[in-house]
Amino acid sequence: MNKPLIIANWKMSLAPNDASLAAKKLSKAFSKFGAASVVICPSFTDIAAVGSALEKSAILLGAQDCFWEDYGPYTGEISIAGLRSYGVSHIIIGHSERREHLHETDAMVNKKMLAALAADMVPILCIGETFEERRTNQKEHILQRELMNAMHATWLTKANQLIVAYEPIWMIGSGQDINDDEIEHTHRVIKQTLYDLLPDTVVDTQIAIIYGGSVNPENVRALVSQPSVDGVLVGGASTDPIVFSSLIHAAAK
Ligand code: PEP
Repeated sequence: MNKPLIIANWKMSLAPNDASLAAKKLSKAFSKFGAASVVICPSFTDIAAVGSALEKSAILLGAQDCFWEDYGPYTGEISIAGLRSYGVSHIIIGHSERREHLHETDAMVNKKMLAALAADMVPILCIGETFEERRTNQKEHILQRELMNAMHATWLTKANQLIVAYEPIWMIGSGQDINDDEIEHTHRVIKQTLYDLLPDTVVDTQIAIIYGGSVNPENVRALVSQPSVDGVLVGGASTDPIVFSSLIHAAAK
């Protein structure tokens, strides 16, 4: 197994002082850590403080979203060039909370993917089905649609890396038990869809498929031990530095 990828999505969950404090603690604890690749995605308002706290650590800086244009009259949007100037290397794209609350469409996700790849950022593309879609056997269709639409007209150069995060929407923040067999099967479906879209070597060497949804220090080891799970995207359990540290150590065992 390659070293696991562990991505923290801090959403809008931490006050500025708490985000900066958490980043300082994690930076100290993981100053020379090589057993896992860890990325923290704070909210935009905390990017500068968290980025400078992480500078001397092995933890990378991510963003929770981006816009597809670099300059212009786009009030409130955040450019990839601007994110890069703070040291951001990874960008979450198409999170289900943005799709739900901000009506982000597959077409918008695709534009962000194209812009992020062109800028050599690592997109963390989120796809996932609702409980109702799973109950009515539409899950695979939804995942394939989201993935194919997000990847439309994209190509990966040798410099590009891509992370696809499978996040069943009904598992996010639910605290429910995770069915490892279902995740393994779903990741295989996602990988097969990627093989249909891109050359096999690109899929095998430049794309990681990770799982997100109620990951915690107790279940992370079983998850990252699965053959087709390359890592995890963590919301709730990433905001407390003590809990997140124990999750990282458990994953990296
Ligand atoms: C998320 O929203 O990306 C997520 C994985 O959240 P949680 O870990 O809290 O389920």
